[in-house]
Amino acid sequence: MTIGMIDDNHQLYVLNLKLSHNTHILIGKREVYFSEGFYVYIGSAIRNIRKRVERHYKLEKRKHWHIDYIREYAEWLNACTFPLGDGECALKELVQKATGGTVEVKKIGSSDCGCDSHFLKVTSPFQPCLLSAQPFTNS
Ligand SMILES: [Zn+2]
Repeated sequence: MTIGMIDDNHQLYVLNLKLSHNTHILIGKREVYFSEGFYVYIGSAIRNIRKRVERHYKLEKRKHWHIDYIREYAEWLNACTFPLGDGECALKELVQKATGGTVEVKKIGSSDCGCDSHFLKVTSPFQPCLLSAQPFTNS
């Protein structure tokens, strides 16, 4: 099973996810509605990005981040990584522009920054994750 394209020297990642149905998801104590469709999540891991992406891939885990609650309902499409550059919020802006992504639910994955959200609804998956050259196999 190929889970994505991981470069161990990178610090930022994008997850392409899909919700197959309209879904109410309980995130901590907050019940949130998500419409079916494609979503992207933008995050960072200053160390060991491979381990972080693998963690997102796994379904059985102690839930910690907002995205962990969503992941349980989402189909994993793929993931890809990027160098730190101007940081995770700048990458989120870039991905949002590239995809025309919209914020369906505010403040998912952006508790510590000024962004509306790091989880965006998109009309199609973020393409660079589909085009990367180094498959990472989870086996
Ligand atoms: Zn941000």
